[in-house]
Amino acid sequence: MRMSNLYLPTLKETPAEAEVASHQLMLRAGMMRTLTAGVYTYLPLGWRVIRKVEDIVRKAMDESGAQELLMPIIHTADLWKESGRWEEFGPLMIKFQDRKGRDYCLGPTHEEVVTALVRNEIRSYKDLPLNLYQIQTKVRDEIRPRFGVMRGREFIMKDAYSFDVDYEGLDKSYRIMYDAYMKAFTGCGLDVRAVEADTGAMGGSESHEFMVLADAGEDRIAFCNSCSYAANVEKALAGEKKIRQDEEPLPVEEVHTPGQKTIEEVSEFLMVDPAKTIKALALLADGEPLLVLIAGDDQLNEVKLANYLAAKEVTAIEDEDFEKYFQSSPGFIGPVGLEGVRILADLRVKDMVNAVTGANKIDYHLKNVNPGRDFTADEYLDLRIVKNGDLCPKCSGKLEIKSGIEVGHIFKLGTKYSESMGATYLDENGKEQFIVMGCYGIGISRLVAAAIEQNNDDKGIIWPKAIAPYQVIILALGNDEETIRVSEELYSELTARGVETLLDDRKERPGVKFNDADLIGIPLRITVGARSLQNNQIEARVRRSGEEIQVKLDDAIEGIIEILERIE
Ligand code: ATP
Ligand code: MG
Repeated sequence: MRMSNLYLPTLKETPAEAEVASHQLMLRAGMMRTLTAGVYTYLPLGWRVIRKVEDIVRKAMDESGAQELLMPIIHTADLWKESGRWEEFGPLMIKFQDRKGRDYCLGPTHEEVVTALVRNEIRSYKDLPLNLYQIQTKVRDEIRPRFGVMRGREFIMKDAYSFDVDYEGLDKSYRIMYDAYMKAFTGCGLDVRAVEADTGAMGGSESHEFMVLADAGEDRIAFCNSCSYAANVEKALAGEKKIRQDEEPLPVEEVHTPGQKTIEEVSEFLMVDPAKTIKALALLADGEPLLVLIAGDDQLNEVKLANYLAAKEVTAIEDEDFEKYFQSSPGFIGPVGLEGVRILADLRVKDMVNAVTGANKIDYHLKNVNPGRDFTADEYLDLRIVKNGDLCPKCSGKLEIKSGIEVGHIFKLGTKYSESMGATYLDENGKEQFIVMGCYGIGISRLVAAAIEQNNDDKGIIWPKAIAPYQVIILALGNDEETIRVSEELYSELTARGVETLLDDRKERPGVKFNDADLIGIPLRITVGARSLQNNQIEARVRRSGEEIQVKLDDAIEGIIEILERIE
């Protein structure tokens, strides 16, 4: 492609709307433009990268035995009502009506449509297993669309759905997808980690997320520093830390703590370590009052709590409703002497000695509270968010927390959709059985942003070769006949050899050409100029390493291809 013809509006300045490197660089490198928050046009350069990623993902899927199809973006409400998700999905889903007043939505995901498809076609166990996938635009009205295509309201997803006769089959399909995902991400030149993910309200089945480690990531992941345990912090279990009990339990003491409500205030006021205070959270789980206790220096993991309670809704008790359940006010509640409220406590609370809690009396706290002696929790559970340095739940190692971008997610669905939507097959004995399903997503457009987060410097993008929009860029520096002739020849020969090549034939200063080449991140830059031509040479420069290599003009094509082959 000649850059004089390429629609490539690069920007010198960083657009104010963009906070993270990938968003800034995708705008600056002329890969995309914003239509409105979370909605983008991909320009030719950006679209080429998307297509590269799609091709790599498509190949991995095809090789795994999955079959590509294309489902509609417009979904009828009745399908979503059958699965119960028309309401459950909430405002994330964009709903609309047609001219006859019938309800529809724009597909945020396709479990409903694909289940409705196969329930009409699959009759017998002989039709299974089956894995169907598509690469398609998804629409989700995200509350906070941000970081460019990382969290768009319209984005490109590869979604696959597997159908098996039983859970053993599902395990196999899931493993095949796991491997295909790893292959696809590695094929894109990404460093991706699979981590255990929460399965949410869907039950005890398995789920993994594929994370690109990057500071801009919105997910937190816990890694063990000595074994292979890795999990989304939402899901990560806390290893049991035994607190040494070298302190003698003392008698409970009521202390006046006027106006001291938060853990910080109370621990400062009483001069105790927050780790020796018990945080009491007043919650309603489907309308039932609940007191949750965690150590003052811990945070409640709401996902763990919600999974444990299996409640539809867990909310904080509003200040004005407080008196219905407690005799005091928020900030002064505690487990001692509390009646009529179920108490759940984190495992760490169980071992605390001489802790501080609210006294259930306005402006008072209790010192020297000892669980077991002064109150009884209904249950002790793992309820906290794991922290840097916590014990690994699988070994004696320590957990380390890092940020990550979720580029893929695989999930064992089981029979959730086949049961609610009636997707069955006849087994070998002619008995009707529910199809066992899995679902598997890759955020194609998010992956492009993640690749940039992992591969950039202060000059711009550094594309992994596999997804670079072009592999080579030739800069013709100068208007002299020889420079133009050599540049043109290299360009047509490389192109003929199947090397995707850009020729910067624009009437621009060398500085502009150098900057743009770095900004758009082409792996190998070739400069052709009068000075090196005098020595029968051209200059090659590797974008990632900065390595500069003089290439003999006589054998330039072979020389360039050789360098290209060793670039990652
Ligand atoms: P997140 O937790 O980031 O909101 P999700 O878990 O809701 O994502 P899934 O339903 O698992 O997303 O979708 C499959 C994949 O689609 C995700 O792993 C992610 O890569 C991508 N994806 C999801 N939401 C978006 C979005 N708003 N913009 C871009 N990509 C997205
Ligand atoms: Mg997900």
